[in-house]
Amino acid sequence: MYLGAVERTQAEAGDVVQVLDYRGRFIAQGHWSPHSPIAIRVLTWNREKVDRAFFERRLKRALELRKPLGQRTNAVRLVNAEGDLLPGLIVDRYGPLLAIQVHTWGMERVKEEILSCLEALVAPKAIYEKSDPQARQREGLKPQEGLLKGNHEGLQEVEEFPFRFLIDIQGGQKTGFYLDQRDNRQLILHLAEGKKVLDCFCYTGGFTVAALKGGAKFVRAVDSSASALSLAKENVLLNGLDLSRCDFHRADAFEFLREERERYDLVILDPPPFARSRDEVPQALRGYEEINYLAMRLLKKGGLLLSCCCTQRVSLEDLSQAIYKASLRLGRAIQLLSSSRAPLDHPVLFSHPEGDYFKALLIRIL
Ligand code: SAH
Repeated sequence: MYLGAVERTQAEAGDVVQVLDYRGRFIAQGHWSPHSPIAIRVLTWNREKVDRAFFERRLKRALELRKPLGQRTNAVRLVNAEGDLLPGLIVDRYGPLLAIQVHTWGMERVKEEILSCLEALVAPKAIYEKSDPQARQREGLKPQEGLLKGNHEGLQEVEEFPFRFLIDIQGGQKTGFYLDQRDNRQLILHLAEGKKVLDCFCYTGGFTVAALKGGAKFVRAVDSSASALSLAKENVLLNGLDLSRCDFHRADAFEFLREERERYDLVILDPPPFARSRDEVPQALRGYEEINYLAMRLLKKGGLLLSCCCTQRVSLEDLSQAIYKASLRLGRAIQLLSSSRAPLDHPVLFSHPEGDYFKALLIRIL
C-alpha cells in the first residue's frame, strides 16, 4: 500500500498497523515502513493476532508448498517475501544452511521470532543473513550481513538432480545462487545434446553444467566476474564433466558478442536487471533489443535462443517486442517455442504482480 493512499497513522517503524477505510472499516493489517514509498506491507486481510504463532503458520504454509521439490533438490527458496505473504523476508535453503534476506522494518523487528520459528521448523546447521544493502537503504535500514545462528564457513554443496553445485553464500551474488533458473536448467539439459552452446552471463555455471551434462559438444561461458567464472569451473569438475569440452571468458558480454566470430546452435542470455526504476525502462528495452540482436546474429539456422529477463519493470510482452525488433533488424524470422516464469518456490500474489520479475522465452531462429 503506497504512502499516498494513507491519510493518517500513529505508528513507529516496523509496527503492525491496521488499515481502515475512510469509514473506519477494517481492511487489512501490515507492517509500517515510514521511509519507503510503499508504506504498508500487507501481512493479512484478517483481524488475527500477528504474533510468533502467526509467523509460524505463515512459514509452515510456505514450507508445505515446497515439499514436492525436496525429492529432487535441497536448494530451494523457502520464503518468497510478498508471494508468501511475508513481505520483506526471503529464505533460501542450501542443504543444511539457510540464507536469509530481511528488507523491511517490520521483518527486522520480528527477526528473532522468525529465526526461532525457522530453527524449530527446519533445524538448519546455520543461518546466514545476506540482505541486499540497497533494498535495506530504501527502507532506511543499515546494511546487515553475517552469521546469525550456528557455524558455517566456505562453500556449500547442494544437489539439484542430476546436478551438484557449489554455493558461495558469503562471496556470491544475492544469497549465492539463482534458484529461479532451476526449471530452465532442466530445459537446457534436455536441449543441449550434440550442440555448440554459448552461456552468456554464466555466473557460477548453472547452464554450462546443464548443457555439458545434456551432452553438448562444446560450451563457451562468458561473465564479467572472475570469482563467478572460477566457481563455474569448479562446478563443471564437481559434476564429473570434462573441462576440455568448455572454455571460460572474462568479458563484458556486449563486447564479447560483438567480437565473437564463432557460430552456435544454442545461446543462453541471462543478463542482470537493466533497469532499477521507471525512468530507466526505455534504455533497458534498447539494451534487451541490442543484446538479443547480438546473440541471434551468432545463431546458425535452426538455432535456439533462451532469452531471460529479470528486470521487474519489463514485462514478457515488452521483452517479446524487443526480441521481435531485433529479429527484424537482423532480417530473420523467429519462432516462439515456450515462455516461462520462475519455478513454484517463487510464488507471486495476484494482488502483488510486481513480484513476477522473472521471464524467459525460448526462441528458434529460422
Ligand atoms: N545465468 C546465471 C545467472 C546470471 S546473473 C545462473 O544461471 O546462475 C548475471 C550475471 O551477469 C552475473 O554473474 C554478473 O557477474 C554478470 N554480468 C553483469 N554484467 C555483465 C556484463 N556487462 N558482461 C558480462 N557479465 C556481466
